[in-house]
Amino acid sequence: MPKLSARVGTFTDSVIRRMTRISDEYGAINLSQGFPDFDPPKALTDRLAEVAHTGPHQYSVTFGAENFRAALAEKAAKSLGRAVDPETQIVVTCGGTEAMMCAMMTVCDPGDKVMVFSPFYENYGADAILSGARPIYIPLVPPEYSFDIRLIEDGFRAGAKAIVVCNPSNPCGKVFTRAELEAIGALAVQYDAFVITDEVYEHMVYAPCRHVCMASLPGMFGHTITCSSLSKTYSVTGWRLGYLIGPETVIENAKKVHDFLTVGAASPLQEAAVTALEFPDAYYDDLLAVYTEKRDYFLAGLDRIGLAHNVPQGTYFVLVDISEFLALPQFSGWTDLAFCEWMIREIGVAAVPGSSFFREDVNHLIRLHFARTKETLDEALARLAKLKSLLA
Ligand code: GLN
Repeated sequence: MPKLSARVGTFTDSVIRRMTRISDEYGAINLSQGFPDFDPPKALTDRLAEVAHTGPHQYSVTFGAENFRAALAEKAAKSLGRAVDPETQIVVTCGGTEAMMCAMMTVCDPGDKVMVFSPFYENYGADAILSGARPIYIPLVPPEYSFDIRLIEDGFRAGAKAIVVCNPSNPCGKVFTRAELEAIGALAVQYDAFVITDEVYEHMVYAPCRHVCMASLPGMFGHTITCSSLSKTYSVTGWRLGYLIGPETVIENAKKVHDFLTVGAASPLQEAAVTALEFPDAYYDDLLAVYTEKRDYFLAGLDRIGLAHNVPQGTYFVLVDISEFLALPQFSGWTDLAFCEWMIREIGVAAVPGSSFFREDVNHLIRLHFARTKETLDEALARLAKLKSLLA
C-alpha cells in the first residue's frame, strides 16, 4: 500500500458526526451533533420549491451569487455597524465549516501558529493541521470559562498569526463580553495579527448577555475575519451556506482558496436563502424566544433529574457532568467516549464526549444539545432520568 498523508493520520474523524451515525444505528434520540429536528421557516421552503422550477441550477459566481451577497452584506452591516461591500468583503462558502477552513488557509503557512481556546469546536484542530498551522491552546477555565489574557499575549509574542474566537462558544456556551473582545482585539492589533471568529450561534445569546461582533469594535474590521453561516439561524444545516467577511486583501486571497476548494455553494439554495436574509428583525427575536424557552425547559429538566450541568449563555449546547457515574464500579476505567456509546445503546440518548473538545485531560463531561421539539426533549429527559437509577 503506498503511503498516505501523514498529516491526515494525525487526527481522527469527527467524533460529533460519528456519534450521529451511531445514534442513527441504534435509533437513539440524537442530542449529539447540533441541528434542529424542526422545519426551517415556511417562507424559506416555499421559496425553495419555486426555485426548483425557476432556477438557477448552474454555478453561481464562485464567491457567491450577487443577490445573495448583497442580502448578506445588508444583514451584516447591521451587526457590524458599518457598510460591507458585497463585491470585495464577502466570500460565500459551503457552510461555516468551509468558511473556517478557508480563513485558516488564507492566513497560515506551514509552521505558523494559531491560538485556539480549549474547549473548542473540534473542527478547529483539523483545520489548523490541514492548513499546516500549529495550534496553541488557551484554556477557558470553568465555571465561568474565563481566560488569562497574559497567555494570549504570550501566544502573539511567540508569533501566532491569529486567534480563533468562537462566540458564542461551542461547546461551553460562553458569550465573550465586550471587554474581553476588546482586550483580545487590542493585542491582535498590537501584534499585527488576525482574529478569526466563528459566530454561527450569533442569534442564540441569552439575556442578559448580548452578542458583540469582534469586527464591529473600533479598529477591528481590518484585523478580523468573521465566519458565520445560515445553518443555525434559519434551521438549514443541510443547505451548507456559510460565509466569511473581512477586509479586501484578506477576501481577495480567501476567494482563491475557496474557488479551488469547492468552486461554490449550491446556487439554488443561495437564491432561495435570500428570502431568509430579508426577514424582519422580529424573526430573530422570535428565534431567540424559542431557544430561550428550550434552554430553560431542558436545563430545568436536567435539574429535576439531578444531573449537574453548566448554564450556557449562548448556543444550544449544555455540558453535563458524568463524574458520579464514572465513579460507579461498572464504569471503572471507562472513557467518556465509551460512556457515550453505552448511553446510546442502553439509555437511548446520544451525546458528544467532552474529551473531543478539550485539549486538557477532561473525561467527566458530555455535551447535549436542545435544538429539539418539546416532545423530543421530554422523551430525552425521561430516558436520561434512568441514569439516576444507577446510583440507587
Ligand atoms: N456545530 C455543530 C456541533 O457542534 C455541528 C456542525 C457540523 O457537524 N458541521 O454539533
